[in-house]
Formats: sequence, structure tokens, C-alpha cells
Amino acid sequence: MKTIVAKFGGSSLADAAQFRKVRAIIESDPQRRFIVASAPGRRSANDVKVTDLLYECQALAARHADPTPVLDQITARFTEIIEDLGIEFDLQTEMAIIRSRLRERDYMASRGEYLNSKILAAYLGVPFYDAAESVRFLRNGRPDYELTNELLASALSNVDRAVVPGFYGADASGVIRTFSRGGSDVTGSLVARAVGADLYENWTDVSGMLFADPRVVKDPRPVAFVTYRELRELSYMGASVLHEDAVFPVRKAGIPINIRNTNRPADAGTMIVPVDRAEQSETAVTGVAGRPGFACITVEKGMMNGEIGFGAKLLTIFAKHGISFEHCPSGIDTMSVVVASAPFEAERDAIFAEIEKELRPDHISVDDSIALIAVVGHGMMGARGISAKVFHAMHKAGVNVRLIDQGPGEMNIILGVAESDLPIALQELYNELS
Ligand code: ASP
Repeated sequence: MKTIVAKFGGSSLADAAQFRKVRAIIESDPQRRFIVASAPGRRSANDVKVTDLLYECQALAARHADPTPVLDQITARFTEIIEDLGIEFDLQTEMAIIRSRLRERDYMASRGEYLNSKILAAYLGVPFYDAAESVRFLRNGRPDYELTNELLASALSNVDRAVVPGFYGADASGVIRTFSRGGSDVTGSLVARAVGADLYENWTDVSGMLFADPRVVKDPRPVAFVTYRELRELSYMGASVLHEDAVFPVRKAGIPINIRNTNRPADAGTMIVPVDRAEQSETAVTGVAGRPGFACITVEKGMMNGEIGFGAKLLTIFAKHGISFEHCPSGIDTMSVVVASAPFEAERDAIFAEIEKELRPDHISVDDSIALIAVVGHGMMGARGISAKVFHAMHKAGVNVRLIDQGPGEMNIILGVAESDLPIALQELYNELS
């Protein structure tokens, strides 16, 4: 029998009605042996996530304010779920323990996953396994992926089924630590790798990834297959389906991720796969994404191309000021460096002074308010006519392309446009490429 690790996000476990959907999904396939659960999320647009309530409690306690009203809200949310599901659960005892440790930030934040997973385990009749026993963090708060893998693999090797809370683990001395927000995705991925799963299902409230951002582009189509690398490129540019760190553990083991919708379980969702398992997608391009907030600094100097080490010196100046560069398009006597605007602004004058002193350029200029767009797809490799379509779309949109970058890997084409042109540029790219 195959093994599936199924992670359910906060909206999938926000109330008893959602718990029922989750049970139906789990029971419809006996291969779903390991379940990773988030804390209860929002039930409606203006609701508050339990994790946010827990952080609020801790903050109130830390400044000696009364956290009781917020604690009562948390107790009420879990009570409603327990009573509506009609299960036996000693919430009072659990809440008394939590009340005695109000000032421990990560411990408090983790209790949403802890309680929700215990309740889900009771509801399913499946054993609860506490992530604090095997998901290991270093003392500096960073996760120790390799040790976690070893510990989880040996702890779960003889376990048939388990519910594991997401989002947290502990350091070597047992102090609870959490991942960054949305980190239950990472726990799911770690469990999938450790048990050698055939598939990691990530159940949420959307039917997978879309070709473009639906807040900008009208009704973008879903994406059936995306590779880990394509996902990385698209996420970096603002497409968010999964916690950034969730890809690493399963990618290492070649386990595909399936993004599914708890509210529409019949939808196939998006499969995130290694490149050699990518099905032939209908289009060469898998998706487009864009992000504002960049600046492009251009340094001009006659005969620059003959000056060995010019590029290294220029980039070293940015590095010394803690500014990482995104792209580096260049001409014969010009070199440009594209950076995120916010950190650059703070260092701008100091960087310019140093460029003047070290490189003696003829001219330095800055293009502010640039948005970068990534057109991403393994299918573009060797395909002809894609850039023609990209530039045709820009022409149709009436958008001036400020910079272009494409490496020989041909997996993405990066365009820089004015921030105000980003929406129309993305819409026309979608029309042309999807
Ligand atoms: N409950 C945590 C959060 O709200 C982690 C998660 O849901 O993945 O960020």
C-alpha cells in the first residue's frame, strides 16, 4: 500500500463543519496514514486565526495586561468544535496548563496546532504524535532538517497511522520552537520525507495554483503541473501557495506535492513534481508572476569592458552594505544592478559615494519604482517564439520594457517595467501565453 501524508491548513480545520469534510477526505483513502494539522484559521473574512489570538495572549501577559478575555475566546472556539463534533476531550486541563505558561512566546503560538491535532486525533480515532518529540530546532531557532528526518523516521517507522501537529518542534532541551508563519506546510513536508511517502497532499481552500495572480488578472486558469524549480521562481515573485521552506524536504526525496481544496475535494488541484516527472504541459509557459519595489542602478564608464574586475568591485560595494542584487544586465560600457528598493534606499548615498571613489565612473543613474515580472516554464527551453510572444504582449499593453534578463537555462524570462504598468503587463502576458 502507498503512503500519503495529508496536511490540512487552518481554513480546512476552522470549525466542526470543516472537521467533518476533513474526516470524509481521510476516510475515503486508507493510504492517507499520516495527518498534519494546523490551528483553526478564519471562518469568514473578518474572523481571527487562533494563532493570532495566542500571540495576542502572550503579548498581553508579557506587558502585565490581562489576557483573560482573549483566552476565553480561544477556549470558546475549541469548545464549539468539541461539542459540535460530540467527542470526549478534557479541554479544561489543557487550558490550565497553557494558562501557567502564558509568557513563553513560541510555546503559546504552538498551542493552536497542539490542541487542534489532539481534537482531530480523538475525532478520527487515530493516535496523536507530538511534533515536539522529533521536529528538532537548533538553539538559534533554526530548524535542523537532517536530525528531524532521522528522529521522525525512527519514531514513525512502526506507526501505522498518526495525527501530527504542524508549525512547531523543540530544541535539544525540550524548549518549544516554531517555524515562521504558515509553517505547518514545513512539518507536513518533513513528515512526508521521514516516512518515505509516495505523495504529500497539502489541503487548503483553493484548488491549486493559478497561472497568474487572480487579484490582478481576470479568471486565470489553474495549473495542473509545476516543477519544484518553477514553483520556487514563481513564489519568489509573489505567487504564494505553500510556505517557501516546505519544498526542500520533499524535493530532496523526490516526493510530489499535491495542492488540494478541502471544500472541493473532487478537483485534482496542482501537482508539484521533480522536473523529470513534469507532464507535457499544454503551454511552454507554466505561469507568470510580478512584484513591485525594485530599483535599477546603472553605472557608465568608457572602456569599461577592458577593465578587468570592474563588475566584481561594483558588486562588492553592494555586498559590503548588505544589499543583495537580483539581476545584473550589462552593455559594453554600462553595467546595471537591480536591487530591492527598500534596503537600497537606506544605503543609497553611501553606496554612490563609494562607487565614485572606487570606480570613477562617467555617470551613475537610478531607475526607481521598477516592477519585475517573471515568465516561467521548463517548456520554454529550446522552444521558439516565446520571447516574440512576450514582447508582443508588452506592445499590446503599451508598456515600455525597462530591462530584460534571461539566462542560458531558459527557464525564465525576467522583465522590468514601471510599477504602474505591472497590472496591464501581467494581463496581456496572460492573454498571450496561457
Ligand atoms: N497556525 C500557524 C499560522 O497561522 C501555522 C500554520 O497554519 O501553518 O501561521
